[in-house]
Amino acid sequence: MRMRVAFLVGVIASSLQAQTPIDTGVTLIHAGRVFDSEHAVFLSARDILVRRGMIDSVAEHIAPPAGAKVIDLSRYSVLPGLIDSHTHLLYLESPSGDLTTQGASAVIMEGTPLRALHGAARARTFLAAGITTVRDLGNSGRFGDMALRDAIRDGSVDGPRMIAAGPGLSPEGGQFPGLQSGYRAIAEEEYRVVRGPQDAALGVRENVNYGADVIKIYSNNTPNKGALSVDEMRAIVDEAHRLHVKVTAHATSDEAVWRAATAGVDGIEHAYQVADSTLTLMKQKGIFMVPTDLDSATVLRYSSRSQGKLVVTPAQVPTILNGQRDRLRRAMRIGLTIAAGSDNYLDMGMPQGEAAKHNLFAYAEAGMPNLSVVQSATWNASRLLGLENRIGIVRPHAYADIVAVEGDPGADIHTLERVRFVMKQGTVYVNNLSAIRE
Ligand SMILES: [Zn+2]
Repeated sequence: MRMRVAFLVGVIASSLQAQTPIDTGVTLIHAGRVFDSEHAVFLSARDILVRRGMIDSVAEHIAPPAGAKVIDLSRYSVLPGLIDSHTHLLYLESPSGDLTTQGASAVIMEGTPLRALHGAARARTFLAAGITTVRDLGNSGRFGDMALRDAIRDGSVDGPRMIAAGPGLSPEGGQFPGLQSGYRAIAEEEYRVVRGPQDAALGVRENVNYGADVIKIYSNNTPNKGALSVDEMRAIVDEAHRLHVKVTAHATSDEAVWRAATAGVDGIEHAYQVADSTLTLMKQKGIFMVPTDLDSATVLRYSSRSQGKLVVTPAQVPTILNGQRDRLRRAMRIGLTIAAGSDNYLDMGMPQGEAAKHNLFAYAEAGMPNLSVVQSATWNASRLLGLENRIGIVRPHAYADIVAVEGDPGADIHTLERVRFVMKQGTVYVNNLSAIRE
């Protein structure tokens, strides 16, 4: 009996240990230069003191406290951990396949538990890429995203901090076109299909009850032809805001964006086709835009992996990307706040976290200044997520999410591919530096 108690105490102690991902020690970082994400400029050399997973102080010189670990990043550009505001960690699609076949297969064959485990493997690649927070917007089966989020939070799994949506609130059919009506339930395993304003509010309460940090809706559910009514979206926004949760809308057409903006959502995802008057409405209402854009390299890679589904030559790329680039430039001109989000759910034959970063290169290709690109993935995204001054910034009282890259992102945005150091909440996950003193 006593042996058993001792065994139990051992189990409890080790599980407590597993649930303590925060480094309780003190670390002093010498940074060569530090990105001030609020003002989108690099500051000169700074020391950053990290204590119990939080940034304690930032100054030109900090004397190392007794027993502090010292990390020398003096040869690097130091950034706050990057934020990807639009991920689908529990879903991966082959460029050669179609959405319904692969989406339905994820629901009925892969299943939520295995999807969460696959998501855990993908989550690690985001952390390795310097992305320390993601907002995961559905396609996670029945709340598989909550399981992954909680496992990362309790330290069982390495990954970025997750802000998770649960199933997106959608018109009939979700995003699975071509399902026979007898099998509509398959879509309802992946989406929360909404039928009227009252049901829409109920959907919000369900998601929040099961752990949603944000509500994802589909103003239109492309490639299906449905649309939520403005009344349904208003009911969603009212209920979510009453529960202190934000709402973000998938909206690809001008009409879908206009209707969601009218209903008062907090963010718009995609907005591929959108008029200046609609962008102006978003600006007036303080709605963030998350342009899930592709860069040239991603288009060509998609083409080469699509087994003939989409054949693109390098000469055709500018024509294909002209529309999204033009609307990003118009959004910047109108003064919208852009938060970076990759929507990267395609199997590009590389780590998912690396593939996701190409979204940032797309903004640069469209003409966004490099440091504004970095700001979109730090300061702007932190505000979209309601975590301003906690993430996306190197400042006292923020989480110690710190990334070092080799080179100057202001001069070359592709330096973001040269991540040499990643700390999340005080714990070091990537450490490819030449000189570290303990
Ligand atoms: Zn998406």
